[in-house]
Amino acid sequence: MIFTDDTEDALRAAVWLVNSAEDPDTLNDVDDEAAFLRDFPYTGRLDRDQAEVASLRALRPRLRSMLLASRDEMAAHVNEALAEVRLTPRLLRHDGADWHLHTVTDDHPLDERVLLETAMALIDVIRADEGSRLSVCEDDTCLAIALDLSRNRSKRYCSTTCANRNAVAAYRARRAAG
Ligand SMILES: [Zn+2]
Ligand SMILES: [Zn+2]
Repeated sequence: MIFTDDTEDALRAAVWLVNSAEDPDTLNDVDDEAAFLRDFPYTGRLDRDQAEVASLRALRPRLRSMLLASRDEMAAHVNEALAEVRLTPRLLRHDGADWHLHTVTDDHPLDERVLLETAMALIDVIRADEGSRLSVCEDDTCLAIALDLSRNRSKRYCSTTCANRNAVAAYRARRAAG
């Protein structure tokens, strides 16, 4: 484990949202949102309506900028996010999750809480100087974010689909050359 569970979960959730904007878009309606919430079970206020979906969609470009920023720019993004709402930090333990920090109360809109959780996770990334774990997928045709939480820093693609496609291409290139 590179970061704590809650930090890694928050990073995965943010990357999922950003990558959902890649063609074909996978966050269009409440069913798509339900799929997101199954993988990333947010507690607190969940409207599960089209307005909430729209707010998450609107957040994606900002999350992308935050996640792919240089270290100093990332810190600026985090400070901006933290300054936007009145924070009421509290340590909680609930639903099987060990002690972790909630920065605002549960009644804040989901997009706001996703933004803040991403900011909190990026604090760990910045402090550990581990920003290189977030990058654009190495596939030439893919702009999704690759999140590398492996110990040996071996993950360069956003998904197994991209990894396999490139493994096959590399194999063909080697055969053609040999
Ligand atoms: Zn929680
Ligand atoms: Zn990719």
